[in-house]
Amino acid sequence: MRVLLVGGGGREHALALGLAGDPAVEALVAAPGNPGIAAVAELREVTPTDPAAVAALAVEVAADLVVIGPEAPLVAGVADAVRAKGIAVFGPSAEAARLEGSKTFAKDVMTAAGVPTARAYTCEDAAAVAHALDEFGAPYVVKDDGLAAGKGVVVTDDRAAAERHAAECGRVVIEEYLSGPEVSLFVVTDGEAAVPLLPAQDFKRVGDGDTGPNTGGMGAYTPLPWTPPNLVDDVMRDVVHPTLAELRRRGTPFAGLLYVGLAITPSGPRVIEFNARFGDPETQVVLALLETPLGGLLHAAATGTLGAHPPLRWRDGAAVTVVVAADGYPAGPRTGDVITGADRAGIIHAGTRRDADGTLRSAGGRVLCGTATGPDLAAARDAAYALVRDVELAGSHHRTDIAAAAVDGRITIPG
Ligand code: AMP
Repeated sequence: MRVLLVGGGGREHALALGLAGDPAVEALVAAPGNPGIAAVAELREVTPTDPAAVAALAVEVAADLVVIGPEAPLVAGVADAVRAKGIAVFGPSAEAARLEGSKTFAKDVMTAAGVPTARAYTCEDAAAVAHALDEFGAPYVVKDDGLAAGKGVVVTDDRAAAERHAAECGRVVIEEYLSGPEVSLFVVTDGEAAVPLLPAQDFKRVGDGDTGPNTGGMGAYTPLPWTPPNLVDDVMRDVVHPTLAELRRRGTPFAGLLYVGLAITPSGPRVIEFNARFGDPETQVVLALLETPLGGLLHAAATGTLGAHPPLRWRDGAAVTVVVAADGYPAGPRTGDVITGADRAGIIHAGTRRDADGTLRSAGGRVLCGTATGPDLAAARDAAYALVRDVELAGSHHRTDIAAAAVDGRITIPG
């Protein structure tokens, strides 16, 4: 199987490692890729959000499967353009990707499907915003209605800050605050059959102890020792299958990766958000434990044959990833700084570039992640931090508490 992987961040580096490790994948091309991915794939230039350009590249490289990493190409219709060329693609149509591209659409689907989620209003003017904030009270949750790369959500007790964010975004979804630890559940689906991967936890805030602004994600770990025993079965029954059925009913089946972001509240799991693709950085840890060959799994989802795919196999133990972010991230990351100590197994490249002379430099807010496995969470955590300690990048910062509360048994579900 010849595979074209679209994207160039940490998630795509993790996907590239998984695909390259599948004996059925005889050629792997990544576009645009990154210096980490270059070690396992041939890199090609492309604008990932240009449907015609990606489809043409898929034809040119004779791809049997195109895997689309990021959300923006999906929302732009890249999967549709590739499918129109008769090539199998892992990633939903633009219509189905609205589950991520529009918070209002996602709420509408959840309501129709009876999926447990926060009550919410879509607001377009100050009066509607004030009314919604009054109804739900603090803490206030204000979300940009469109794609915002994980940074469009403000959760705050400060009423003026909530109103300011709403005014800046224009159209927002304001919703009830959900309390409880968060879980990211990835589900591979062909639109009908659905296979859950291991639940993971992501760390959204920039600072230790969940302080500071929201980011794209500062670290992750799997598995989660603290979740209720039937969590995955319950979420498949109450969230995933009803959502997939509702999208089939609308004539826009969702095939690809359904990312279910959940809060485990005192009254059970509630959906915080859907995404239409693998999450970054949870992908790094989930795929680190997946033993089943990745190419075959994604190909089955892309060709409507997931129902016949054998059950997934997982490695024992745990995985932890710690993101190293650039100086100034998330407000205004500085790029172009020299990185040393990054050319080793376990370092996933997220925002890097390489000069002609081989010098590695930062090229984004989240620069790299140290990803490690171990026999248990404590060992995986130590190994991930050991990787991060050996990386040198001026001004960089990382959280020091990724997976710490889980290791110490300090995560509880409020009740
Ligand atoms: P989202 O982009 O919707 O995932 O939101 C980003 C982050 O904001 C989530 O991971 C949560 O930490 C937080 N968040 C979003 N919605 C809510 C909510 N209704 N209640 C509490 N926290 C939320």
